[in-house]
Amino acid sequence: MPRPIQAFIDQNALQNNLHAARRSTSARIMAVIKANGYGHGLLRVAEALAAADGFALLDIQDAIALREAGYRQTILLLEGFFTETDLERIAEYDLSCVIHSHWQISLLDAYPGRGTLDLWFKLNSGMQRLGFTPEESALAMEAVRRHKAVREITLMSHFPNADEAAGVSAQLAVLNDIAGKYRMARSWANSAALLRYPATHGDWVRPGIMLYGASPFAEITAQQLGLKPVMTLRSRIIAVQSLAAGDEVGYGAKFRADRPMRIGIVACGYADGYPRHAINGTPVLVEGRRTQLLGRVSMDMLSVDLTALPGAGAGSQVVLWGEGLPIDEIAAAAGTISYELLCALTGRVPCLT
Ligand SMILES: *Cc1c(COP(=O)(O)O)cnc(C)c1O
Repeated sequence: MPRPIQAFIDQNALQNNLHAARRSTSARIMAVIKANGYGHGLLRVAEALAAADGFALLDIQDAIALREAGYRQTILLLEGFFTETDLERIAEYDLSCVIHSHWQISLLDAYPGRGTLDLWFKLNSGMQRLGFTPEESALAMEAVRRHKAVREITLMSHFPNADEAAGVSAQLAVLNDIAGKYRMARSWANSAALLRYPATHGDWVRPGIMLYGASPFAEITAQQLGLKPVMTLRSRIIAVQSLAAGDEVGYGAKFRADRPMRIGIVACGYADGYPRHAINGTPVLVEGRRTQLLGRVSMDMLSVDLTALPGAGAGSQVVLWGEGLPIDEIAAAAGTISYELLCALTGRVPCLT
């Protein structure tokens, strides 16, 4: 028998979440499938999201793989091109690509202009990551526009605080002001802005996390947003230990029993992608019932409290996150966000649909 851990990827849930995005906007939907589809598997995710108007990711090889798999919609490279060869391939495979920096304009200038390019001109509206500042945008735009290979330009930006109290209004005002100067499509919104700020929708929205059924907001659950979890990480109990009062559990003795207890050892550890920083008390489902993590997570195993679950034992089903146990709760208990947990699922965990 193989080690019992597996990640179940629910393609119906992906479709449900795409519909939830559709219900929230009339803009075209660019499904963000970077980082191997947020850890769910690129082609598996693309298949379920085939009704999206576009896909956004980083690696040109992945973009070409999507084209070769037959996807005809817009495929956007979120960091754009890195070399002149990339530009040739972008034109060859009819990919769209971000242009965010002056060094890329220089590469574009040197590009002889075979084929046509659809560029997403990125504005830095306050994230201070990629893009041209509002002040430099006019000159940069002229440099991009005059290139004979450029067919279409879409304006794009990314909000730093769409999920936070600070919101988007300051950035949105600047962006709309710039966009007012050009007759070009606009794309500003990630999941949080899509769900919270209809005024940001423009022509293209770029949801990522919501499609995978996690909440972009700390204070609103995915369920409240009508989202369904896509990845369920499950395993089984492979050993049981009976503890006496005073016994300590795991590396560093981070849990100490103050009474007789039963614990189960689950075949899942940080080498599978379960966060080592998860604290005592992090919720875990055993046979569908909520119990808690005890002690430090080790590389291949973790321990859960079975004291209140006398029927559970070796072979019992365990859910680490997903159906019945929102990943956002695990992320909070580990001091991180669902995005990081999803992307960190490791290659040794078999995925099934
Ligand atoms: C990752 C990403 C998104 C999606 O963000 P979510 O918070 O997952 O919805 C959108 N736009 C850009 C530029 C991104 O890098």
